[in-house]
Amino acid sequence: MRNITDNIRQIESKIENFSKSHNRENNAVKLLAVSKTKPAELIEQAYLAGQRRFGENYVAEGVEKIQQLKDLSDIEWHYIGPIQSNKTQQIADNFDWVQTLEREKIARRLNEQRPLNLPELNVLIQINISGEASKSGITPEELMPLAEKIAQYPRLKLRGLMAIDSKAVDNQATSPNLIKMAALFHQLQSEYDNIDTLSMGMTDDMESAIAAGSTMVRIGTAIFGQRDQ
Ligand SMILES: *Cc1c(COP(=O)(O)O)cnc(C)c1O
Repeated sequence: MRNITDNIRQIESKIENFSKSHNRENNAVKLLAVSKTKPAELIEQAYLAGQRRFGENYVAEGVEKIQQLKDLSDIEWHYIGPIQSNKTQQIADNFDWVQTLEREKIARRLNEQRPLNLPELNVLIQINISGEASKSGITPEELMPLAEKIAQYPRLKLRGLMAIDSKAVDNQATSPNLIKMAALFHQLQSEYDNIDTLSMGMTDDMESAIAAGSTMVRIGTAIFGQRDQ
């Protein structure tokens, strides 16, 4: 296992190369480092290498690390796990982004609970683009009605969409699911302001996601190594 700085440099250069080869603009694809199950010390190493965006999947674990690392300036914390309604207060208090919004009730609670001394909570709607029962997210048909509700909440800022593709095939050049996501994203952009984030692509499907138009890849394993859990 190489060190975290090397891993980040390697991912950054892959993002740059895939962007070039798929005709994406320079710097159109941002990197979210997924730090779930990894200790705060490793996040700090990534921070020292210049990484600023981090993703956590579990509320208690994420909040603990956010508190531990609160002296590092400019960190942006993204919540990317399933949301239970009894956890929304902690999410609203601690995170900058929520990528996994899929229910109106949760949106309403986050809006009510977002502290007034913090900026609006940035949110992405999660789409179950593969249609697999095991995956979270709404259907494409449910997108516009949910977006309309979210747009009315003053403490939430709708920024776009998030998806997890069905089991990625390594080096697959294109994914029909991810191409469908890009079409939904453009539809949302045509109806709302501030829609600038299409979060898709993980360690194993980064290239097909960038080819399809992802603006944020969520990378865990390739930065922090395998997870035991
Ligand atoms: C764990 C996780 C990732 C990162 O996956 P890797 O394959 O380790 O890069 C990305 N997105 C979500 C929602 C995750 O839960």
